[in-house]
Amino acid sequence: MDTKISIIGAGSAVFSLSMIRDICLTPNLQGSTIMFMDIDEARLDAAHHLCQRYAREIGIELDLRKTTDRGDALEGADFVINTALVVGHHGMRAGWDIARKHGYRFGGSYHIMHDEAFWINYYQYVLFEEIVQDMLEICPDAWHLLVANPVLAGTTYLARKYPEHKFVGLCHGFGGVYHLADALGLEREHITFEVPGVNHFLWLTEFYYQGEDAFPLIDRWIEEEAPAYWQTCRASDGLGPKAIDLYQRFGAFPIGDTGNPGGGTWPWWYHTDAETEKRWREDPTGWYEGYFVHGAERVANIARWAEDESVQLTDHIAPKMSGESMVGIIESIACDIPRTYIVNILNDGEFVPGVPADFEVEVPALVSKRGIQGIQTNGLSAELIAYILHDRVAPVEIELEAYEMGSKELLLQLIMMDPWSRSMEQAESMLDEILALPEFAEMRDHYR
Ligand code: NAD
Repeated sequence: MDTKISIIGAGSAVFSLSMIRDICLTPNLQGSTIMFMDIDEARLDAAHHLCQRYAREIGIELDLRKTTDRGDALEGADFVINTALVVGHHGMRAGWDIARKHGYRFGGSYHIMHDEAFWINYYQYVLFEEIVQDMLEICPDAWHLLVANPVLAGTTYLARKYPEHKFVGLCHGFGGVYHLADALGLEREHITFEVPGVNHFLWLTEFYYQGEDAFPLIDRWIEEEAPAYWQTCRASDGLGPKAIDLYQRFGAFPIGDTGNPGGGTWPWWYHTDAETEKRWREDPTGWYEGYFVHGAERVANIARWAEDESVQLTDHIAPKMSGESMVGIIESIACDIPRTYIVNILNDGEFVPGVPADFEVEVPALVSKRGIQGIQTNGLSAELIAYILHDRVAPVEIELEAYEMGSKELLLQLIMMDPWSRSMEQAESMLDEILALPEFAEMRDHYR
């Protein structure tokens, strides 16, 4: 196949290995050009070299290239996958350390103690926009697959502002439904489901196993097996006591990152203090420590395996598709193999009734040569839509407005929306301290 796929941020701790594996395990991509692009040369070289060796082991012919120049990467591209994180894990933590000192906790808004904090997002928006503008000039017909966060705000912002751009946001969080199926002992291939919502706020509203309603199976599992499961599961588990309480309260099951730290640890009332978190078996701090440690391990493994020619890579990276949707979506579009995927797009087809038409939703879509066609869902209850409007739409709108206007005042108002904000002085002193960090000088100049 004569397709060029460019990966921006190819050294990503989360995605590098899974993308390498999926590309090498997709025979339809044989003959394609894969361009690895990253600004970190060591990560770039390691990911590129590892992919070359893995492709050789699997026996697929790919033209694998690498560059640190984004223009080069985009030249002739048919697909661009964006997995870049500008401030890195250290940039997230630098801001969190300051926020914590000022009384902010996990479980508040998306925009402070979360990996979509305003200081992370600022640099992401700048990069996202540069990539889109470059693509519109260099490869205007290419598809842009945004995997880097913020997927929710990034999709809203880019799809609104650049309607001519072929764009989709992707997140693997919906896969939590398979975690639920596994716990219930259901075979994955026999479940069907609907999980409408916005990114990191997805709710299982329809769930069938072999054609039968599977919600009674969830209720039975809660009654008979959940207490034993909770004895051994890790803290902040997607099937932990908090998730079950949310299910019983809202009548729909929170899926993937909806209530866990990967999605902002929503909502705040399970996280008011250490004692409350313990009671709910919640530990967002420990969860993120694990995330950073695993990320660093993955990056170290890629470097080690890439260097050591004696390592049989398939012993370490099982030749099995990762479950991520990027490569499958590319195959569906490039080879016209229609399939349904969960995607992030604007709600312009009323896919989730009640969410504004120019705001992102995460919904099923039919993907083929004709593009990405959203599918209408049966939607969510009025109360869950109200939480989307309150906890997702409102802060994202304020943040995007602050970003567009370069307004420090709006940024302050965004911080005031966080449930842990108690006074203007608290919010201002945190904001000033974060903006004063030397690595955030560009952001400090932007927000006046
Ligand atoms: P990471 O820091 O390990 O990797 C990011 C990579 O981007 C690094 O190799 C870095 O050198 C590179 N990079 C930074 N600036 C760049 C630039 N200007 N151009 C090109 N490359 C650049 O981060 P990670 O933990 O792998 O996370 C990557 C992103 O994926 C984050 O935004 C994270 O929130 C997001 N994420 C998304 C999902 C999802 O399902 N959509 C899941 C987990 C993480």
